[in-house]
Amino acid sequence: MILKNLYESDELLTMRYLNTRMELSDQEKFQYLNLEKGFEGEKKFDQMAELLKEERFIINSLLLKVNNSHFQLDKLIISQGGIHLLDIKNFQGDFYIKDNKFIAMKTDREWKNPFDQLKRSTILFRQLLQNLKLNYLVEPLVIFINPEFTLYQAPMDLPAIFPTQVNGFLKNINNTPSRLNDGHKKLAQQLLSLHQTKNPHTILPEYTYEQQQKGMYCCFCNSFHLSKSYNELVCGKCGGREKIELAILRNVKEFQLLFPERKVTTQSIYEWCNGELSRRTFIRVLKKHLTVFGSTSDTYYK
Ligand SMILES: [Zn+2]
Repeated sequence: MILKNLYESDELLTMRYLNTRMELSDQEKFQYLNLEKGFEGEKKFDQMAELLKEERFIINSLLLKVNNSHFQLDKLIISQGGIHLLDIKNFQGDFYIKDNKFIAMKTDREWKNPFDQLKRSTILFRQLLQNLKLNYLVEPLVIFINPEFTLYQAPMDLPAIFPTQVNGFLKNINNTPSRLNDGHKKLAQQLLSLHQTKNPHTILPEYTYEQQQKGMYCCFCNSFHLSKSYNELVCGKCGGREKIELAILRNVKEFQLLFPERKVTTQSIYEWCNGELSRRTFIRVLKKHLTVFGSTSDTYYK
């Protein structure tokens, strides 16, 4: 049973929006594409894991905090026998480990060592269980999901599941009977209640409102060439259609995430969308889906 779904992190969404509306530096673009790729990998793993039977709790994208240290868990599977902490990696290409460094062969670029990251999360997670006075077996694993990934000189005792082993790993879990009790349920509830929404260690590019290209863009191909047709926006590039109402809400969400300090008003959203629809349309949609605050002359929405 999935208790917390997989979804895009604020970091990924912010980078995705910025990438559409401004020019990112090479380094920022690299960061952005890696986030997209990581998310793709997690989705792929979820598709493969859909067949998991028996009673298990699955919690995705958990951000926890212990003694002021934040740590992220991609996927946590609670079974009768214990807890799997899974870090899903979508690395592609040939890599090797040298002096505890994780290096891509083609570019010689050093990547964050996923095993170091997992080790840290595991220590903090065990600490958390101890603080909660809970005693469960914890098995941490890095899952390499991309079939085009190879790790040379990998020690045999690495807590890793390589692409050719993922199916076997899932089969193995499936073949282990699991019955959950109230203790497992309580554990899951406690973990969910401890989930943090903001990771203070997230590093985002600096950006301003002025830098952003205003306007509405296609939700399929990101093209700004849209035209109105009845209650839909039609993309001039890919032909994709989106309901105007949904498009406006998507833009509001984007505006709120990028500029939490700015108020959502008819005027601010009208400007953000570059006046591509009438003020009346914006007012109608904002009123319908958000709560109105302030006086008539100073109305804003949340
Ligand atoms: Zn399009």
